[in-house]
Amino acid sequence: MTERLYFHDSYLWQFDASVVWRSDDGLSIVLDRTAFYPTSGGQPHDIGSIQDCPVLDVVDDNGTIAHSLSKPLPLEHSTVNCQIDASRRLDHMRQHTGQHLLSAVMEEEFGLKTVSFQMGATYATVDVEPQPASISLLEQIEKRANDRLLKNRPIQIAFEDAASVQGLRTPPDREGIVRVVSIEGLDRSACGGTHVGRTGEIGLIALGKTEKVRKALRIEFYCGPRAFSFLRGKIAEADAQAGQAKSKLAEADKQRRKLAEELAAIHGKTRYSNTLPDSTGRFLWEESFPAFAEDLQSKMNSFLEGSASIALLTSVGDGRILFGAHPGLQMDCGKLLKDALTQLGGRGGGSPKSAQGTLADPANLSMLKSFLIP
Ligand SMILES: [Zn+2]
Repeated sequence: MTERLYFHDSYLWQFDASVVWRSDDGLSIVLDRTAFYPTSGGQPHDIGSIQDCPVLDVVDDNGTIAHSLSKPLPLEHSTVNCQIDASRRLDHMRQHTGQHLLSAVMEEEFGLKTVSFQMGATYATVDVEPQPASISLLEQIEKRANDRLLKNRPIQIAFEDAASVQGLRTPPDREGIVRVVSIEGLDRSACGGTHVGRTGEIGLIALGKTEKVRKALRIEFYCGPRAFSFLRGKIAEADAQAGQAKSKLAEADKQRRKLAEELAAIHGKTRYSNTLPDSTGRFLWEESFPAFAEDLQSKMNSFLEGSASIALLTSVGDGRILFGAHPGLQMDCGKLLKDALTQLGGRGGGSPKSAQGTLADPANLSMLKSFLIP
């Protein structure tokens, strides 16, 4: 049996130990005591080094903990200095303690029992039963778990007799001495894993995707720096979606404008074909509007494609004028409008075919026609 140093001190990053067994190739080592955590209970193994030989894997073989090395441990070492990769372990401790807290909150406050726990390289999962009726429950769970986290309760380790131990969330599955991990005022669980010293060290708990697995609901969760990365990713995702929505909207707006122009062209042509010629054979569109619509210019352009056409459109609200004529009539609309506005008070001009301007006093609009279309 290997003495497990992490049972008593999960923050022990360096220790000395005696080699009790060494494989012939020197790549597998058993020590009298170790702080390396072997894969078990849903928590992955530690990495680090034994006497400068990197540790690749740690397995628990019936109470004996074996360390796999990436290069052989030289024969002369009977005692070794060992180093744990603290950042990987701390991450595991945060996820694992976060799971205790989350499972306790879900069972105590929401009636959801944890039936399994797995910790991966980027996220961890708990399976709970029964499946909650509503996913909105997850938001409440997340909030309550973080409320509890912020109380910064101590986490204590005790060794108790399985026959007499009280108040465990799940009855012990073995006889003899059990290791009890307690979050003060919230939870007592039998567990051989590594945990942080206070709930505040978990940092933050964020819940991710869920998936139905047989009778259970599998919930992804993230603790500490993992939670920050997860939420940062969510923000980036939302930004990208907003960007996509924006460009879709711009594309839709472009389409809308194109259709509106096509429609305006049809209106202009229809108006021309419904207009009767005056006594001189000209097709006149004269109209006053409260204000100019966005597509009016397009309608007018389309109307003016008809032979012998003249358009004089005015906006009563702001005194604006659109004036145009078919080239066949040989009018100089720009000059006509400019001269008229010089006399009536305003500004404007344009080409022989098409002109625009503004009257300073919209009340003078009624006199415009006699200047422009004699
Ligand atoms: Zn645990």
